[in-house]
Amino acid sequence: MEALLDIPLDLDEAALMAAAHVPPDSEDAQDFRQLVATARQVGRPKAVYRECRVEVAGPETVRLEGVPFTSRALRVQLEAAERVFAFIATCGREMETAAPPAGDFLAGFWWDTIQAALLGCAGRYLAEHLSGRYGLAHTATLSPGAGDAAVWPIRQQRELFRLLGEGSARIGVALADSFLMLPRKSVSGVHFPSGADCAACRLCHRVDCPSRRAPFDPALWEASAGPAG
Ligand code: SF4
Repeated sequence: MEALLDIPLDLDEAALMAAAHVPPDSEDAQDFRQLVATARQVGRPKAVYRECRVEVAGPETVRLEGVPFTSRALRVQLEAAERVFAFIATCGREMETAAPPAGDFLAGFWWDTIQAALLGCAGRYLAEHLSGRYGLAHTATLSPGAGDAAVWPIRQQRELFRLLGEGSARIGVALADSFLMLPRKSVSGVHFPSGADCAACRLCHRVDCPSRRAPFDPALWEASAGPAG
C-alpha cells in the first residue's frame, strides 16, 4: 500500500470560473478568485493505492488479494488482468476547515467546484504515477456505485476499504454507513490495464450527465451488467 501525500495543485482559475458560471468581469469574480486562492493555500489532495493480484472466483466474482468482490462487470473487465490497483483519491480533509459558511449557498457551490478540481488533481496524479512506475500504457477505472446501480454495487465499498487497510485513514477518508465517502469529493475503485476509456461511463445509461467521459456501450453492458446468460 502506498500513499501519495504530496500531490501538486494544478488549478486553472479561468476554467474553474467557466465551470461555475462566473463571468470573469463580474462582481462575483473577485469572491471566486479569493476562494481559489484559499484552496491553493490549504488544499492537499491525496491518494492511496495497493497493487493487487486478481483471481477469478466465479462467473460474477473476483478476488483481489483474497478479498472477494461480486460484480459481473468487474469480473468481465478484469478477465485478462493479472494485477490491478485498488485506490482511493480525495480532495483532502483540509478543504473542510476552510469551507464557506453553511448558509452561503453560492459560495458553497463554488467551493464544491474547486474541491472537484482538487480531486481531479489527485486522480490524474495517481494515473500518471501508476503509468510511470508500472509501465502501464493505458488504464481504465471502475468504482463501486458508479454508473448503473447493478454494475458494481456501492455496498462493496466496504470490501474495497478493507483491501486498502489503513490506507483510507492515512489520507483522511472515512466510509459512512451509507457507503458514501467523507470528504464527499473522494473516489475509490480499481485501475486496470485497458485499451478503452472510463468503464463506468460505458456502462451507464444516464443521458444528461455533464461529466460523461465515454459513450454508453450497449454490447459491453449486455456482457457485463445485463441479465445473466
Ligand atoms: S455517465 Fe456520468 S453518472 Fe454515468 S458513470 Fe459516467 S460520470 Fe458517472
